[in-house]
Amino acid sequence: MTDVFVEPTPSALLLLGRNRDLASERGVECPGDLPAASDPDLVARARAARDALGDDAFILGHHYQRDEVIEFADVTGDSFKLARDAANRPGAQYIVFCGVHFMAESADILTASHQQVVLPDLAAGCSMADMAAISQVETAWEVLEDAGVAADVVPVSYMNSSAAIKSFTGRHGGTICTSSNAKTALTWAFEQRPDAKVLFLPDQHLGRNTAVLQLGLSLDDCVVYDPHKPNGGLTAQQLRDAKMILWRGHCSVHGRFSKENVDDVRAAVPGVNVLVHPECRHDVVTNADLVGSTEFIIRTIEAADAGSSWAVGTELNLVRRLAKAHPDKQITFLDKTVCYCSTMNRIDLPHLVYALESLAAGRVVNRIVVDPDVAHWSRVALDQMLALPGI
Ligand code: SF4
Repeated sequence: MTDVFVEPTPSALLLLGRNRDLASERGVECPGDLPAASDPDLVARARAARDALGDDAFILGHHYQRDEVIEFADVTGDSFKLARDAANRPGAQYIVFCGVHFMAESADILTASHQQVVLPDLAAGCSMADMAAISQVETAWEVLEDAGVAADVVPVSYMNSSAAIKSFTGRHGGTICTSSNAKTALTWAFEQRPDAKVLFLPDQHLGRNTAVLQLGLSLDDCVVYDPHKPNGGLTAQQLRDAKMILWRGHCSVHGRFSKENVDDVRAAVPGVNVLVHPECRHDVVTNADLVGSTEFIIRTIEAADAGSSWAVGTELNLVRRLAKAHPDKQITFLDKTVCYCSTMNRIDLPHLVYALESLAAGRVVNRIVVDPDVAHWSRVALDQMLALPGI
């Protein structure tokens, strides 16, 4: 196998307010005049603009958003639920997506053409989605072709990926998955060819955790493709032997939790239940009591007995809201240090006010538009997910 050109990954995030890179998740400058964060009338201004927009606007709030933003959300949820909620509100001309860039792209793909999706701060990207650039993934496909395995490979891409990656997935006969349906998606993928392999993008941890813990594959069935190394750092034989080819990407929030965090909280809180997201590392997940998506985490805490103790390994805004909503249960954050999604947190009240007031004045700002061809193939991959059994 000849070495294939290795393209460096762009630096994870652009500094806020510097440069523009509309084709990536890295974030771009916010072009408007933001209200000052110290403006004491921000809440009143947001309310007035929201009231003026009425049913023309539908505000979506991801679970990891700040409280000050969630307060204005018409609906809350994970990325896929929110995109579907938007598609079910065709009367809303403006979809204000308080989330990150890839989520707004998905909403644009799933909503009708007369609906316009607005991301209040264009700098709200996702570091995980940015770890798989489309040019790197196209290069990886060439590596798979050179190794003689591409015909057996079915791509499965996590919802947390750019529209370009979703489109790649659709073009190559794969499917999108969420953290709730990853097992179903992988099961489907392995049924598509007699010797099927899965290329799982971009979160190695969700791919590994699902394949090993839910499908019964071994760790040896999994290899990690590193886009920074020639041929992904793998030999043709390794690619031929693998069942799961995991892209070397991770979530900068969930990837921070460690087995030591689990050991520490068990020592500190006798009888504690450790509940983590499947984007956490394999040794964290295998040492936890329960593993599941954000929606699963919320449902589990809601159903827990009064007096029970929980250490939760997911984004801090959500954990704090759960603790506040369930004072009868002891809910702690799994890590000792603060662990917000810094890109998600870029959407704050000044940016929301900026977006809502602009829309109320008839100016559409920070609109997210997906290229029609990219949107078509992304939709093919998303529709495949919707056609999976039990979805
Ligand atoms: S929590 Fe992780 S996956 Fe989600 S938006 Fe933030 S960096 Fe991306």
